[in-house]
Amino acid sequence: MKEHKARKRFGQNFLQDTRIIADIVNAVRPQPGDTVIEIGPGLAAITEPLARKLDRLHVVEIDRDIIARLKNLSFADKLVIHEGDVLQFDFRSVPGRKKIVGNLPYNISTPLLFRLSEVADEVAEMHFMLQKEVVERMVAEPKTNDYGRLGVMLQYFFEMEHLIDVPPESFDPAPKVDSAVVRMIPLPGRIGVAQDFEHFAKLVKQAFHQRRKTIRNNLKELAGDEDLQAVGINPQDRAEHIAPELYVKLSNYLAGKSLSVKA
Ligand code: SAM
Repeated sequence: MKEHKARKRFGQNFLQDTRIIADIVNAVRPQPGDTVIEIGPGLAAITEPLARKLDRLHVVEIDRDIIARLKNLSFADKLVIHEGDVLQFDFRSVPGRKKIVGNLPYNISTPLLFRLSEVADEVAEMHFMLQKEVVERMVAEPKTNDYGRLGVMLQYFFEMEHLIDVPPESFDPAPKVDSAVVRMIPLPGRIGVAQDFEHFAKLVKQAFHQRRKTIRNNLKELAGDEDLQAVGINPQDRAEHIAPELYVKLSNYLAGKSLSVKA
């Protein structure tokens, strides 16, 4: 088969560093009967060592040329190939508690992470290669520059660990940015349980709407000073100073209040 030319529009930066590949596979700890889904197998850098340790491996890939190559691999009989856009993929169609892994196309990583949150209840753990800057935002703590909506929303669902830093030269072609591998383990209730998840998500989005403004200002349509104070938030504070738990608490407080008004 002729050489594959990396496609920019599909975020194709292929891993070529065998040490990093081994580190990712070791982090995943694949066991023969595991249900594993790899997003974007590409030229099979991670796919091959994973498949070697598994009975079966699900892969989701959008690039037709790559799919044709996957079908020709010596271990193709172990692969269940799902052709198409992972943003449309129904993860629930693969039964069982899933391990999900991928060197993700960076252009779709944020919407993909939000989509994966919706199926967190069926996930055992996930390992992803992402832009390092995104991983830093995912695991960020309050009172840091990286802390924001992405971190709060993902920390609601997952315990996350920044595992490995990966330099551009580990890929071909080399991306312009540094990368990192993150481990995500679902941990329901880790920052509390939102009674109305949609409301919580809306509140967090609004809270970080303008980072430089006070929480009072950003939330003026959703909460008054007395609401903020009732859950221990100083109205003059900025969103980035407020712990994830307090957003859940505030959402539940406001939801409870609106119920008592309706009653
Ligand atoms: N796993 C390979 C590796 O580590 O070398 C390839 C990683 S490359 C960064 C991203 C892969 O995701 C490519 O194979 C690309 O074709 C695929 N891809 C890009 N966008 C996708 C999408 N929306 N749905 C499914 N796969 C996608």
